[in-house]
Amino acid sequence: MQFFKDIYHLFFPKICLCCKEQLLKNEKTICLKCRFELSTTNFTEERSNKVEQTFFGRIPIEFGTALFFYKTKGISQQLIYQLKYYGHQEVGVLLGDWLGYELKNSRRLIAVDYIVPVPLHDKRLKKRGYNQLTTFGLSLSKIIGATYIKGVLIRKTVTETQTLKQRFDRWKNVQEIFHLTDLMLFENKHVLLIDDVITTGATLEACALQLLKAKNVKVSIATMAYTE
Ligand SMILES: [Zn+2]
Repeated sequence: MQFFKDIYHLFFPKICLCCKEQLLKNEKTICLKCRFELSTTNFTEERSNKVEQTFFGRIPIEFGTALFFYKTKGISQQLIYQLKYYGHQEVGVLLGDWLGYELKNSRRLIAVDYIVPVPLHDKRLKKRGYNQLTTFGLSLSKIIGATYIKGVLIRKTVTETQTLKQRFDRWKNVQEIFHLTDLMLFENKHVLLIDDVITTGATLEACALQLLKAKNVKVSIATMAYTE
């Protein structure tokens, strides 16, 4: 079997999604060089890190982290684009495994019951065919032993283009569009809310506010990347 695999790769070599160089036998999805070029945040073991600071005075969260810093035109952007716009869901697996082991070994994160993704609107979901957080969330949930819950936190409408809007407007824009179909499910649970990139935190805040309506719920936040 290995022999046929080797022959196959000789003719169809696997390439790194970022630099397009041929991958070595033990490399998956991206090469080691590109992986080292991602600038990791080390937030997971850092108290009051920048993700957690983002929500100070806004919503109570237990814990927050992000894997790497998001840089426009950098490897980080390329990687997220491959996942979001080019259908490379293996990026979600790569990052989910990576963050999963980080969280599993963390001394700061207490046991998580559920992992909940920031939902895409149905229309966008249909157009893209997948939520870019699914493979990420599933990989993560396997490693930390939590249940992946989709379809309970839902998005009602697509927001207008948000880039030129002020933060307040943005917040107003997103706060009403998320909705929980089952509040009881989250009672007395610790929920890890996940997203791809955290910028102002407005979307995550709006989602967390819905989850926080459940009795005695704890909410934590983890993303693939953090924008400075
Ligand atoms: Zn590479």
